[in-house]
Amino acid sequence: MNIIERGRKFLQSLRELAGRSAWDWKRCPKCGDTLTIKNGSYTRRPWYLDGRKSERVQRHLCHTCHSSYSEQSALLVRGSWYAREVHRAAIDHWQHVRTSLRRTAEVLRSWMGRQERWRLWRPLDPPSSEPCYLAASTVHRWLDGAGKNAQASVEGQLTGIQDTQVVGTDGLWAKLKGKAKRVVLLVVDSVSGLLYPPIVAKGEESAGPWQRLFERAKQAGLDTDALRGVTSDGAKGLLAYLRQGMQWVQQQRCTWHMWRTVGGAITRIADQAAEGLSDEAAAQMRKRVKDELSGLVHQIIDAQDYAQAEAALAVLLAHPLGAPIGKVLNEQLDRLLVHLLDYYHGLQPVTPEWYWRDFRLRLSHGRNHRSDQRLERASLLWAIYHNFEPAQWRSERKRHYRYPGQSALAVAGAPPGQVSYLDALGV
Ligand SMILES: [Zn+2]
Repeated sequence: MNIIERGRKFLQSLRELAGRSAWDWKRCPKCGDTLTIKNGSYTRRPWYLDGRKSERVQRHLCHTCHSSYSEQSALLVRGSWYAREVHRAAIDHWQHVRTSLRRTAEVLRSWMGRQERWRLWRPLDPPSSEPCYLAASTVHRWLDGAGKNAQASVEGQLTGIQDTQVVGTDGLWAKLKGKAKRVVLLVVDSVSGLLYPPIVAKGEESAGPWQRLFERAKQAGLDTDALRGVTSDGAKGLLAYLRQGMQWVQQQRCTWHMWRTVGGAITRIADQAAEGLSDEAAAQMRKRVKDELSGLVHQIIDAQDYAQAEAALAVLLAHPLGAPIGKVLNEQLDRLLVHLLDYYHGLQPVTPEWYWRDFRLRLSHGRNHRSDQRLERASLLWAIYHNFEPAQWRSERKRHYRYPGQSALAVAGAPPGQVSYLDALGV
């Protein structure tokens, strides 16, 4: 069952529960018999977004199997003092509004108990009659519960949603409790921007974590046999894994990372060339060398076709100062230009780093998650949110959305419709 089907099923179960009649409740949920009688009631006092309410819960007794059961409500969560809407609002505040756990709890308490921030918003209101004590640790527990559901949804999560042939990969370092460092690894469909379920690993230098990442993506529905290209930075672990486990997949070396490597080398060469010159002459020399070399590198890395790149590489290698850079680029040339080939259509020349911006805004650098498992569950939750949530319509100053107003699922050809990420997470 893929993630949209999961969400739809959950939503249906809520609707079904909300639509049950008195006659429906006469049927015993254990044995299915209708030989039941009403058997008293008890009162619950759950918190809703607009305050605490008393509710009578009807109990029934079944004559056939001698078990008793009480009527359930779609609005409530079993065993919780808070209504479903509070659970959903809490997760949405943290994930979508990007507040911390503490502030999420504070804002929800303010709404529910007419207290704290509420007193600032409505200073003329009388003091709260019944304060609310929702704690940040409770919100964290709910989030972690949603994360567990996200984990349970990995199997088949994107089955039947996307035929992915080209992907991008990247890692983000996170700090956990006790200064432990972990890396969150991600596979993204280059065409639709659909995220496969991420993993958390201790490092990215060996093949192991990458193998785990692709195995999880496969479990979620990625057809690794049909995979053609992967964009990545120079991570040795991924290359090692591709060589052992997926020889048919071609690596596209991230051009942005390559620029960073080569840029440093150009600065060093320019500095050497300017050594021993007077200040002004040195500055001029530095600028001249930098301009010449970066111009040539630009023609290679951002080439429109192979011929152009090869011609520029020949010029760079012949340049009196260009040989060391030319050598590096010569070794990587094929890997830098994979995205130009028709067979790898859709492959991005850069790693999907912009997703981490979205990730960081919500999960910060992981410090609140304390353990590997919790960070992983939060990452899985975030990935589902990201796939369901439409990109913004507007372009930000630094960021242009390829498919404004559309979610990754919609771009992949499976618009989720009425189903939200909260339904998919079963909250
Ligand atoms: Zn029964």
